[in-house]
Amino acid sequence: MNIHEYQGKEVLRQYGVSVPVGKVAFTPDEAVAAAKEIGTAVTVVKAQIHAGGRGKAGGVKIAKNLDEVRTYAEELLGKVLVTHQTGPEGKEIKRLLIEQGCDIKKEYYVGIVVDRATGRVVMMASEEGGTEIEEVAEKTPEKIFKEVIDPAVGLLPFQATRLAYAINIPSELVRKAVKFMMALYAAFVDKDCSIAEINPLVVTGDGDVMALDAKLNFDSNALYRHKDIVELRDLDEEDEKEIEASKFDLSYIALDGNIGCMVNGAGLAMATMDIIKHFGGDPANFLDVGGGATTEKVTEAFKIILSDAKVKGIFVNIFGGIMRCDVIANGVVEAAKQVSLDKPLVVRLEGTNVELGKKILNESGLNIVSADSMSDGAQKIVSLVK
Ligand code: ADP
Ligand code: MG
Repeated sequence: MNIHEYQGKEVLRQYGVSVPVGKVAFTPDEAVAAAKEIGTAVTVVKAQIHAGGRGKAGGVKIAKNLDEVRTYAEELLGKVLVTHQTGPEGKEIKRLLIEQGCDIKKEYYVGIVVDRATGRVVMMASEEGGTEIEEVAEKTPEKIFKEVIDPAVGLLPFQATRLAYAINIPSELVRKAVKFMMALYAAFVDKDCSIAEINPLVVTGDGDVMALDAKLNFDSNALYRHKDIVELRDLDEEDEKEIEASKFDLSYIALDGNIGCMVNGAGLAMATMDIIKHFGGDPANFLDVGGGATTEKVTEAFKIILSDAKVKGIFVNIFGGIMRCDVIANGVVEAAKQVSLDKPLVVRLEGTNVELGKKILNESGLNIVSADSMSDGAQKIVSLVK
């Protein structure tokens, strides 16, 4: 799960990570009131969307007085901001962070991720702050330093110190940088983050070390023990179909193609998407209905797929192991009736009770194309949507 920058900074502040003074605003009036309250000579007006790259896209404005705060707030609120992370459709700005303007001396990068290779949490740091870390990794990988963290003891001060020196934090500020990194790590572990990225971390004119940006992602499997974090969820930033799917415990991810896929098991779902691509088609989604799907769940899955206007046809590919083919068949028939399906539907069933499942489909009176194998089904749906 993702949260906004201003929320991330609030979480980090609780752990002693130094962040600028700031306040969220939903209207130009609130923006001006917030700037007045902050009271610094310069305030920054920052678009709050779940995507980075806002600075380059014009989503971060420096205001020198309250009139400018109002002007920028009016300009940004309601605007669709397109950054290299939003995709071409962009994201509508509905909230702003009004923040103390910082006298930046230099920008750095500090990030914490879970590293698959070592199976451990890794802290990364670089002197090349403000720019995309992916770009640094590609062009000048020697400028990224890493510390692998032992879960039993956590980030050790000497590791943080080593990182601070490696990225050339001025020596008189190394202690502050170490304190910053230790606090960031504490927040990461305590809140079950999957990513904590500070880009940029800055050294200021008055000798402070601060997070000017904050991107926190949380492990959704651990959210049950963080009610305070769940409350920060902003449904406006998420795909409606994905929200609906999560209510029914379906793993659904929206994609750009036109073939809706309903599959059981994540591995089979991946293979199904591959085979559709192989035969020249484009999947509209990843959908795993899971092992224990009921007729109701399959019906909901169907509705979600069909609510996507891009979908021109559906491919149901089920291997009945734990899941029985007749249950799926009943779900498909039920759903097709409920939504009065008028798009091509190809079904490939295999496994437990497959004969019964096929019988249910055949006797339903619905226009269902049955397939004998995955590749047969994929070829059929690809040609039907063309
Ligand atoms: P994004 O990563 O989405 O572009 P950032 O929060 O990193 O957004 O802001 C982009 C740039 O704007 C920063 O690298 C920094 O130079 C500047 N900036 C952001 N917040 C402030 C602030 N409070 N004071 C001064 N400059 C800021
Ligand atoms: Mg940033």
